[in-house]
Amino acid sequence: MLDYKKLGFMCGLEVHYQLSTRKLFCHCPNLVHDSNSISYKIQRNLMAFEGESGKKDIAAEYEESKNKTFIYEGSNSSSCLVELDESPPFPIDQGALKTSIQVAMLLNMKIVNEVIVMRKIVIDGSNVSGYQRTTLIGRDGFLETSKGKVKIPTLYLEEDAAQKTSKTKDTVTYNLSRLGIPLLEIATSPDLQDPEHAKETAYLIGMVVKSTGKAHRGIGSIRQDVNISIKNHSRIELKGFQDLRSIPKVIDYEILRQLKEKNESSHVRKVEPNLTTSYLRPMPGSSRLYPETDLKTIQISKEFLKTIEIPELLTERALNFEKKYNLPSDHAREIVSENIPFDYYAEKYKIEPKIIANLLIEAPKEISSRFIIKKQLKQKDFEFVFDNLENKKISREAAFEVLKDISLDIKPNLLKYQTISLGELEAFIKDLVEKNKGVSISGLMGDVMKRYRGSVDGKSAMELLKKYVR
Ligand SMILES: [Zn+2]
Repeated sequence: MLDYKKLGFMCGLEVHYQLSTRKLFCHCPNLVHDSNSISYKIQRNLMAFEGESGKKDIAAEYEESKNKTFIYEGSNSSSCLVELDESPPFPIDQGALKTSIQVAMLLNMKIVNEVIVMRKIVIDGSNVSGYQRTTLIGRDGFLETSKGKVKIPTLYLEEDAAQKTSKTKDTVTYNLSRLGIPLLEIATSPDLQDPEHAKETAYLIGMVVKSTGKAHRGIGSIRQDVNISIKNHSRIELKGFQDLRSIPKVIDYEILRQLKEKNESSHVRKVEPNLTTSYLRPMPGSSRLYPETDLKTIQISKEFLKTIEIPELLTERALNFEKKYNLPSDHAREIVSENIPFDYYAEKYKIEPKIIANLLIEAPKEISSRFIIKKQLKQKDFEFVFDNLENKKISREAAFEVLKDISLDIKPNLLKYQTISLGELEAFIKDLVEKNKGVSISGLMGDVMKRYRGSVDGKSAMELLKKYVR
């Protein structure tokens, strides 16, 4: 176990959340298309240019030195001339603006008096124009965590970049459908005390964003960057966390790596699937913001702010679920964060809510960790299982087996799982023991389970075996 205090551990987060509203500066929908629905392709080259400070951005120079041609693939239903930088931006999307203000309010931030859109130079080609539009919405906020307040200095509303789909020695290809999707960028101060604290804070920020009901779901809709430094070492930014749960491990590995390095300069690293990190690029410089002259400043009046309602926090909604149904808190939190219609199931079926929650939340996870699944479980699959469970046609154990069968695209054979009476089980065991004199209890247990897996509980079977085997 590392002693984070002794190491002088400093850690802050920058989380990015896509919103499910329309795009930020045009009317295109938030639809991510794959390469099958491409309707056009364009090609561009980018050059680094001097920022206001007169100094070329080092990250920009780094990218320029790569001398790439950028290819953009788009679909007419998810991108327009704005993404291609051939038409000026439309005024900022009101839905996204409202959601960003709600999040800023939930994070106890001061809301800006005016929304001023800025251009941030981005030279890796992920924005056709060579810059990303961004606007400060809130500042000086905080979040309560189990280890005290974490300061949230800034919340920006910005446009997401195009998604890199392939690259060769001279070209990089981007899919345009993601470009322009509203993105919240929420940064914490380096207040995080240890890796678990970083994970908790990332989780809590996620809950705040999801509380608005406008967090976009799906792969790539959330991105967390972690900035860390330890005494006598440069600051390192870690990008590309696939899963919030991996944060503590990745940070630990990174600290161990840094302890072996000397005289390393600040840079950005990418998180690999095995949770180690690899060099990505130099740290971006600071000379890269200038005003977006195509957009008017929007005044945020006190009257306007009064019209924005503050949504109920999901953490509070989770607590209500926990109390109402006597559920474990992690299940209650998952119900709200995954938007599972739990009330519906709990009211429809006379089944203990804990069992319902377990089948809805744990069963799919266990199945996918143990088997290669072919089908995602749907509401009708759960209802099929709950119906049979409620009518005592199958046992709780069998409910899991049936869900597993459905996930593996096997038609579940309910006859196999039908519950049997204790009398029936006893008759079977008595007969089995008589026919298999000398076979051990564990050997016979194997036979019982082969015949009745999912229909009997192991404990009763074992008691009966002990009764008859002498
Ligand atoms: Zn568009």
